Formats: sequence, structure tokens, C-alpha cells
Amino acid sequence: MTGAFYATTPIFYVNAEPHIGHTYTTVVVDTLARYHRLAGEKTFFLTGSDEHGEKIAEVALELGETPQAVADRYSEAFSRTWQTLGFSFDRFIRTTDPDHKQVVQNILQKIYDAGEIDFREYEGLYCIGCERFFTERDMVGGKCPDHDRPLESRKESNYFFKMTHHFEWLIDYINSHPDFIRPDRYRNEVLGMLREDSGLGDLSISRPKSRLEWGIELPFDTDYICYVWFDALINYLTGIGYPDGPDFATLWGASQHFIGKDILKPHAVFWPCMLHAIGLEPYQRLNVHGFWNVDDRKVSKSLGNKIDPLVMRDKYGFDSFRYFLLRDMAFGTDSDFSEEALVTRINADLANNLGNLVSRTLNMTGRFCGGNVPEPGQPGAQEQAVADAAATAAGQVDAHLRSCEFHRALEVIQGLVDTVNRYLEARAPWKLAKQKAAGWQAHVNTTLYTSCEALRVLSLLVAPFMPETAPKILERLGIPDALATTRLPDDAATWGSLAPGTPTSKGAPLFPRIEVES
Ligand SMILES: [Zn+2]
Repeated sequence: MTGAFYATTPIFYVNAEPHIGHTYTTVVVDTLARYHRLAGEKTFFLTGSDEHGEKIAEVALELGETPQAVADRYSEAFSRTWQTLGFSFDRFIRTTDPDHKQVVQNILQKIYDAGEIDFREYEGLYCIGCERFFTERDMVGGKCPDHDRPLESRKESNYFFKMTHHFEWLIDYINSHPDFIRPDRYRNEVLGMLREDSGLGDLSISRPKSRLEWGIELPFDTDYICYVWFDALINYLTGIGYPDGPDFATLWGASQHFIGKDILKPHAVFWPCMLHAIGLEPYQRLNVHGFWNVDDRKVSKSLGNKIDPLVMRDKYGFDSFRYFLLRDMAFGTDSDFSEEALVTRINADLANNLGNLVSRTLNMTGRFCGGNVPEPGQPGAQEQAVADAAATAAGQVDAHLRSCEFHRALEVIQGLVDTVNRYLEARAPWKLAKQKAAGWQAHVNTTLYTSCEALRVLSLLVAPFMPETAPKILERLGIPDALATTRLPDDAATWGSLAPGTPTSKGAPLFPRIEVES
């Protein structure tokens, strides 16, 4: 093992079914987890469900069920969908898991004992949707901008985490660790939140049981439960065995969180302060993505304009949907979703380009080389150019993935497909095979070896992005188990490992062209 990689999605709040926003974050983390595993790193991928808080208690009351029953049903729906979609997570954590409750209580006690918590009376306007109090500057037209419901006036006594004591440390930390929060725009946004005039104060971390019983009890006052965000963030520690699990230190030292920009504040302010208060190093990196706009509205669980990933999978194939999500959004910025854009992308990049290269290469190998990978002759300048392009692509994909530039990585892969397609056009093996001019078989053999070997490299490079497609290509190339022993990027950058004589097969089109009804 060289290196480690620990990546998390947010734990998803269990009051809605999975939609495009949840799916995007999970596709991103899944792609990276697969890449880091192929790179030989000790990898852990954590996802799960966030199950406490007022919204669940409200839904349970409406339905006449217990909050636990509601949480069980939604959590089950999430984990089943994630399994059906083939995500490679190592643990699906639930905030109702016994080990999580234990860790939350340990941390609360630790912070309390350190004198980081006091008891205060507070009055303010509260959004049940966000489960937090609002300041004047957070409101838009007297309402929460994310939830179409009026704010409620509330007065109550609660325990407060003295978060503001840690702001000076956090500002210094962010300034001295430029990669801590990325892309840059979000780092600047966080520094703005931490400015003295921003109005961000200490954090209320409790709710009185007289108002809400659904949550983790405070170990130092049984009349109170823990605020849902405080409980939820701690899942990132529970999931890898805090405080003394065998892999905890290694994985925590390599931790990266992936979130949508709507939950920047809890992850970039509350969470590092909490970690600092218990004497733990902050996570290594926070990666923040933008929103998918569907009909110009942000997709959120409360607005309901959702794109169901299972429907997308049944209609287009999940690899194609993953490809679109990663190719059409520059990580960090917003992007528009439409089925027209999805279909255009699938047809252009997958059906006409990658899929076509696979089928023409393997068809010609069948017709002109008896179906086996041919023995190449001495490589010429054209072959060397393809080999060089493959090696360059392997290095660029590695660099782009490590900096969350998924769209760039896929552009590089498409660029390599273009290179190989142009090579085939220039060499035109079908013409030589037809004319049967002197030396035609050697020319065709060299050409198709080069093309088959390029397909091997392409399969390895697309494997993290399209985990169902890569094994299909490798199987047709006669090396179905290649991924089990692959090390990226080296095995993609090293030319010539496909053995001549390996039997290949044609197979059905990988990405049938999608005809659009007009
Ligand atoms: Zn709200």
C-alpha cells in the first residue's frame, strides 16, 4: 500500500428519496474511491443517513409512526438504492447506530469537561427546515431562502459550544493551508463567514426534550438532546473507528469530505472548530460542489424537482448517467440538467466516439486477424505517437482526478479516443485488406495491435468513471481479470502489455445511439 484515501459523502437526511444532488456527490466519491483503490492506496468510502432532528419527528407525528420507524424506512430506501446503483462504499453509517451514539456522547462529555460549553438563554427566529436559528442577514424577505416556510420566534435555554473562541485559529489555519477548502471561491466565502462583523456566534448544541425527544441525549444533562448537526458531523469520525480503531489515524490523516455548497457553513466552520476543541487535527480537505439546476431551480429535498437516479439508470444505463454528471459539471460551479443535454452527450462521446472505436477495432480484428490480438511489426512514428498519447493521458487523468477536475479528466480520455480514431483513419487497414497489396497483413496487424492496446489503456482509464463498461471492454479484449491486478496510472502509461494471440470477441454495441423522437 502506498498512501491512503478516506472520502465521505454527506450523510443524507432521511425525509426524501435520493435525487440528482445526492447522486452527483456519491458518483464523485465513488469515482475517486475506485481510482485510489486502483492506485493501490488504502481506501475507505463512507456514506450514510442522518436520522435525528425535528423534521423526522414532525413526519412521524403526521404519519402516526415512531421516528425510528420513519428513519428505518428512508434509510433502507437510500442504502438499497445506493447498492442497486453499484456504489462501492465501505460503510453505510446511520446516526442511530449504537457506535455512533456512543462516540457523540464521548465527544460531548470531552468538550463539556474542557469548559467549552455553557448554558444560556436564547431568543430568535428559527427555521424548522434548516433546524437552526436565523440572524437578520440570513433571511430573505423575512423567510429562510431555502425553505418556503415562515420563521418561528423561539425562546429557550440551551447549551452552547463556545465556537467563536476557535475562529482566530481557524482563520490562520485556512490561510496557511490553501488546499484545505476548494475550489477557492468557497475558501473566500468561509473567510467571510468568520469575519467579526458577519454575526456568526457560538453554536447552540442542544434541544430541550420538552420540545423534541428524538435525538442523542446529552451525557451531562438528560433533559436535553444533541442538536442534529452536531451529532451528524461526528459520523465522519465514527465511520472509521474513532478514537482508537486500528485504521483511524491513517484514514483520518487522509480524510476528504465532499459536499454541496448549501452545507458549507457546518462543514467549514462548525466542524473544524469541533475538531479543534477535542484536540484532533482538522480533516485534510473539504471539496465543495455546485448545484444542478433543473428548470432554473436548485434541486433540493424540499423543492422536490428531482431526477430519480433509478429512472435514469433504467432509461440510459447508469454508466452513461455517471459519465454525463462528471463530464458536464465543472466541480464547484453550478450546471444545468436536461435530458436533451444528456442524450446529446451520450450520443456524441459514448455512442459515436468510444463505443464506435471499440466496435470497429474488434470487428476488424475478427475479420482480418482471425479474432486474435495480432503480432505487431516494428512500430513506426504513427504507432509511437499513439503510445505517447496514451502515456500522457494516464498522467493527466491522475492529476485531474486528484484535483477534482472530473470534466477535464474525461476530456483527456475523449482526446485519446480521438487520437486512436484518427490513427485508424490514417492507416485505413480496411483498404489494405481489400486491395491485398504486398505486405498488407503486416500493416493491418501493426495497426490493429496498436488499436487493441489503446483500448486496453482506455478501459483502465474509464474504469473509475464507468465501472460497468470497463470490464466489458476488457472481457472482449480477452483479459477479463485485468483490473484485479491493475496499478494506476503506471499500467495505463506502460505500452505493450496486451499479449499477441489473445482471443478477442466483438459483442453488442456498448452504447447504442439514442434516437430522439421529434
Ligand atoms: Zn430553512
